[in-house]
Amino acid sequence: DIAMYRAKQQGKGIMLFDAHMHQELVESLSLEMDLREVLERDGLLLFYQPIVSVAEERLEGFEALVRWNHPLRGMIPPDRFIPLAEETGLIIDLGKWVISEACRSLKLWQEIYPKAAQLTMNVNVSIRQFATPGLVEHISEVLQLNKLAPACLKIEVTESVIMQDKAHVVGELNRLRALGVQIAIDDFGTGYSSLSYLQNMPIDHLKIDRSFISGFQESQENDQIVRSIISLARSLGLSVIAEGVETRGQLEKLRALQCDKAQGFMFSRPVDEKKAREIIGTSQLS
Ligand code: C2E
Ligand code: CA
Ligand code: CA
Ligand code: CA
Repeated sequence: DIAMYRAKQQGKGIMLFDAHMHQELVESLSLEMDLREVLERDGLLLFYQPIVSVAEERLEGFEALVRWNHPLRGMIPPDRFIPLAEETGLIIDLGKWVISEACRSLKLWQEIYPKAAQLTMNVNVSIRQFATPGLVEHISEVLQLNKLAPACLKIEVTESVIMQDKAHVVGELNRLRALGVQIAIDDFGTGYSSLSYLQNMPIDHLKIDRSFISGFQESQENDQIVRSIISLARSLGLSVIAEGVETRGQLEKLRALQCDKAQGFMFSRPVDEKKAREIIGTSQLS
């Protein structure tokens, strides 16, 4: 009897589990089909978030952030579909589109505003893009096509991307830097890696993760972390960008610590191309 009961219980458990799994599978399959379709008809959007100098609050450039406005589901955040795009390999086409579109916008802005010549564009690149041949070639082609100075482009990679296949990724980063493209480590401080690996890395910038900035006012501990990241960057000759700056208090602290750049809702949320253009139009650029 007990055996029967257990079997039943287990059976039931399995069925519940299956139903849930099934629903998730259907969900992600339909999302995958939709993503494939939206990529084919060029239906994704690229938004741009300003990056400013901490000292003068002067516009320095933008980070390109992908958006998917789904007809039924509404705005789907990238955290929902980037992992799916990575799993399915769709990230290759998506990533190429992001690089092309970001460079096209930057070129457009430089044509409209001569003062925009020194603006930079940050683009996120994921592990699968590094693992697939052709990334460096694609970036090089897009820069040439748009007649952009390679130093205008900054590629953002996370520590985990580098650590997953260090030798290969470092090789590709070196090739990008040989083109003149700059490299930023994204979400710095959240990785599991030791700091010593930074020493011989082909990188130019560190982006301090938002989680350290958000607790900035309250916790003395976060203060110390941000302080050490900035001094570490200084000693390695890297510039520092703080992400997720939401308040003037946070900005003042970053200024006292001599952080180079900042990005966050305090300045602007990510905006569409037209709005970004307006921001450039009204900003003081030397
Ligand atoms: P990320 O690279 O760390 O991008 C910064 C995220 O922080 C963005 O979220 C941005 O909207 C958000 N953010 C910026 N300032 C603030 C602030 O002051 N407060 C708060 N609370 N949030 C702020 P988003 O656009 O939802 O992007 C999420 C993540 O998706 C990105 O994190 C990045 O990892 C990924 N992603 C976005 N676009 C791309 C892309 O084109 N390619 C790849 N591979 N990944 C992308
Ligand atoms: Ca980023
Ligand atoms: Ca980040
Ligand atoms: Ca992030």
